[in-house]
Amino acid sequence: MPESMRPDALLEVRNLCKYFPVFGGILRRKVAEVKAVDDVSFFVREGETLGLVGESGCGKTTVGRTILRLIEPTSGQALFRSSILADKSKGEETTVVDLLTLDKERLKRIRREVQMIFQDPNSSLNPRMTVRDILAEPFEIHGIGSKSEIDDRIAELLKNVGLRPEYRSRYPHQFSGGQRQRIGIARALALRPKLIIADEPVSALDVSIQGQVLNLLADLQEQFGLTYVFVAHNLSVVEHISDRVAVMYLGKVVELASAEDLYRNPKHPYTEALLSAVPVADPDVRRERIILQGNVPSPLNPPSGCRFHTRCPYANQGNRMAKCSTEVPELRNVGNDQWVACHFAEELKLQGVEVPEKTA
Ligand code: SF4
Repeated sequence: MPESMRPDALLEVRNLCKYFPVFGGILRRKVAEVKAVDDVSFFVREGETLGLVGESGCGKTTVGRTILRLIEPTSGQALFRSSILADKSKGEETTVVDLLTLDKERLKRIRREVQMIFQDPNSSLNPRMTVRDILAEPFEIHGIGSKSEIDDRIAELLKNVGLRPEYRSRYPHQFSGGQRQRIGIARALALRPKLIIADEPVSALDVSIQGQVLNLLADLQEQFGLTYVFVAHNLSVVEHISDRVAVMYLGKVVELASAEDLYRNPKHPYTEALLSAVPVADPDVRRERIILQGNVPSPLNPPSGCRFHTRCPYANQGNRMAKCSTEVPELRNVGNDQWVACHFAEELKLQGVEVPEKTA
């Protein structure tokens, strides 16, 4: 029975959970669970970019890897509108499948439509393979094209990512970090996917190179109609590329809104703190950085109530703490499709930043 999903969505994640067991004692029995991703839901429209942002350990990378089944989920759904798996004999153009329950054979086929760009190009490219072999691999795995057709596609892919086709016989170590990430992008693009999950694709690069790679990703999105889930650890990285942004804290989405609303008018104190670290281009504008107290608590033993209450600068004001420390705030729509998990979202006056233009 095909699943149903939002008609405008390419990907719809519902109630995704990933709990890692912790074993202890002489018998190595399961003694606890790390709730790395706890009931996360969001959707991505075709052709848009959803930024998924939060500090290290918030679960954002686990979300991306679980959708791709590089990590097996604990529960939930990741519905995807697939063309490859549609039954063309029944006149279907697309069909909705749950990526989290696909068998091995269908999972392999759907890799043509869903790809990943990894954070560290140094470890994601095999140092013993030439660029030609790295880029030929996806075609060979899926049995696509003759040798000369693959070579033509590789030359085209290298041009698409701003590298010279003559570089195909070189090895990864002969390239700079930025060039290696371009090779990683070319590999993700090889099979013309619809959806790319980019896991912190610029965070291992020099700041001077980050902008170039972000611009390349934006250009490729326009050229090929790609849809991105863009994972990042701060809001300044995704500001020019995202249509909507989901902010995660300790395994949960705490705010999800259009980039414009989230940057200009944040409703969650954690989003405000992340925004205060976004550099402002105007030298006349002075913003005070909000330094959150303490470290991110362990997901092994998350705080009760609102998970952010141990660090929230607003929880201690008035008599809020009683509710903040005991009641779990639901992610709710506070208007204009801005979803916030804070009991006091309507009464807090939080500071945003001027909205950046999306790079096109
Ligand atoms: Fe802060 Fe309380 Fe809102 Fe959580 S519910 S973000 S602790 S004010």
